[in-house]
Amino acid sequence: APSAPQHALAKKRPADYYARLSSNENPFGPAASAKKALKAAIDDAFLYPRHYRDQLVETIAKVEGVDKSYILLGAGSSELLHAAARVYGGKSTKVLSADPTYFSLVRSAESLGAEWVKVPLTKELDHNLGAMEDKVSKDISLLYLVNPNNPTGKIMTGTEIRSFCDLVSDKVPVFVDEAYIDYMDDPAGSTTVECVRNGKNIIVAKTFSKVHAFAGLRVGYCIAQPDVIKALSAEGPRNTLTGPSMAAAAASLTDAEFLKYSVKKNEEGKQFVYSELKRLGFEYVPSHTNFILFPIGMDGAEFQKKMMANQVSIKTALIDGQQYCRVSMGTLDDLGMFVDAFKKVHTHKLN
Ligand code: PLP
Repeated sequence: APSAPQHALAKKRPADYYARLSSNENPFGPAASAKKALKAAIDDAFLYPRHYRDQLVETIAKVEGVDKSYILLGAGSSELLHAAARVYGGKSTKVLSADPTYFSLVRSAESLGAEWVKVPLTKELDHNLGAMEDKVSKDISLLYLVNPNNPTGKIMTGTEIRSFCDLVSDKVPVFVDEAYIDYMDDPAGSTTVECVRNGKNIIVAKTFSKVHAFAGLRVGYCIAQPDVIKALSAEGPRNTLTGPSMAAAAASLTDAEFLKYSVKKNEEGKQFVYSELKRLGFEYVPSHTNFILFPIGMDGAEFQKKMMANQVSIKTALIDGQQYCRVSMGTLDDLGMFVDAFKKVHTHKLN
């Protein structure tokens, strides 16, 4: 892939520009309020950023309705997923998750010696909660759920996931990755933070990388019982977040107007891709995230290579023998490039 920096919103694009629709980034942000806070905090860059950390933790505590002792920050949620793998993974442990899901935590745990216990998604590509419950035993050291799920874009409703978590977390710790929760219709009604507030042994991770458009700034956090936060903290981030990024995150978190804008731009992209896929006779999985999964009916590696040859980067997934494309939402220009490339690459089915 070309290595030039990408400028999805730039008027003039470099010759080797490609539409980067493979990492579920958000080309419309960050918020003006976040950029202002980011720039202002640069003057303080010589200071260890205690002040900005306290300010962000306080803001999160208010927004999530928990005490500060329930919060741990990470340089992106990846750092917290990895910390959880270190606390709960390792030799002779077992980590349970759906297959497929976002595999970062599972892979970290495996590399530390854990065994992955997988439960395939249902035919409708949903988490199979019944089958997961059957696998829950004392042997399982961590159950990992992603809601909405990546790469499917499908959801468990708030009621569904909370009652499941309430039930199983009496037996095993549960990690709920809510990276895409802000794209759901009712994020506040869909989160499992309420279970943590009710004393359950659940770790809820959130990230600023998606709706807040901070993928390059690296800010995430998790909410869990204070003793779990201590354990994660011992295995996790060591002062890894920068002052400017924490200042920006605190501004973005309370910028309701921006969040609305960000979700709206994402929805415009989804409606465009849905209508184009429909027109071309392709089915898709209606998405509650900033990406869309759809079956391509051809080899995934070949598809990905040919799309890239047309300057479009996407990801593919093989689920239950079926090849899918996962396309991240981008600007309408980038999504137009995606549709044009798709028409060229998929000539054998379209003709
Ligand atoms: N969790 C899920 C479900 C993701 O899809 C991603 C990134 O795509 C992450 C976590 C990690 O993101 P970050 O480390 O930027 O917070």
